[in-house]
Amino acid sequence: HADVAMYRAKQAGRNNFRFYKAEMNELAMYRLRMESDLRNAIESQEFVLYYQPQMDLKSGRISGVEALLRWQHPRPGLVHPAEFIGVAEEIGLIVPIGAWVLEQACTQAAAWQRAGCPPLQMAINLSARQFAQKDLVSSIDAALRRSGLAASQLEIEITESLMMTDVEQAAATLNELKRLGVRLSVDDFGTGYSSLYYLKRFPIDKLKIDRSFVRDIGSDPDSEAIVGAIISLAHSLGLSVVAEGVERHEQLAYLARCGCDSMQGYLFSAPLESEAMERMLRGLPPSKAAGERGKMAGAGQM
Ligand code: C2E
Ligand code: MG
Ligand code: MG
Ligand code: MG
Repeated sequence: HADVAMYRAKQAGRNNFRFYKAEMNELAMYRLRMESDLRNAIESQEFVLYYQPQMDLKSGRISGVEALLRWQHPRPGLVHPAEFIGVAEEIGLIVPIGAWVLEQACTQAAAWQRAGCPPLQMAINLSARQFAQKDLVSSIDAALRRSGLAASQLEIEITESLMMTDVEQAAATLNELKRLGVRLSVDDFGTGYSSLYYLKRFPIDKLKIDRSFVRDIGSDPDSEAIVGAIISLAHSLGLSVVAEGVERHEQLAYLARCGCDSMQGYLFSAPLESEAMERMLRGLPPSKAAGERGKMAGAGQM
């Protein structure tokens, strides 16, 4: 991993300049390799979407899924976004990759619907570079038309930092998206340059409480207070709330007590391949260890 190599390089420090240099070379090679592999990945159809369900806490039903990108690299196998999204963003490749995600997610949601699965919200993550594209709104509109998915079934996840870079521009883009009819949610809520200002200024529908707060439910009263406050704030503003990274019953119980609308996390299901996701939508038992966390995946874990 690049960060690990960098860390080791730093640790090596001055006393061991040759070691440092070797590590730097290795890091540079790794980076070059990744860039060129990434450039081929779309054409070679190496990207796949996994889907993680969000469960509505009142009905117990799946209200939506989040599409999460995976790179099926021929050598190291499945690569997770943390390892390549940053690089893709830096070299601008995130724009065509994001366009692929949008198309694929809309097509999949429409296909599930046509196949008789219950209707759901399909959420996709948007990167800063994508958000800044002039044709963002028209490309989303086009993807919806091509797939036949209703705009109200597409949810766009944006981060706080993405909105705060250029507030005027962000407001204009978000208003246009809203006019199109798509839903807007704030991802990793509470971890960015949190400004409550934008909740008033922007047409947001939903907040996703960051995993770092959810993780500490049961051990840190401050995190619990923050989670509770986010839920009340969201509800007073007419927004819905989903908690990310729910792994334990204790967290679920606390969230339910606070009136949280839905939850997403390994407790309910890991991200799943499309076939496994479809089985779950149909209420069928998982066919094999389909999820990324094997035994943790699949309904019936509740
Ligand atoms: P995110 O949007 O906040 O997605 C949630 C992440 O938490 C996912 O990681 C998911 O697999 C993980 N997760 C879900 N439940 C649990 C849990 O109970 N415990 C723990 N520890 N983790 C859980 P993933 O798939 O590795 O994605 C990481 C980030 O990469 C995402 O964070 C998102 O910011 C970005 N990303 C993923 N797909 C895309 C994409 O298509 N486009 C863009 N621009 N970014 C993406
Ligand atoms: Mg997300
Ligand atoms: Mg998130
Ligand atoms: Mg996150």
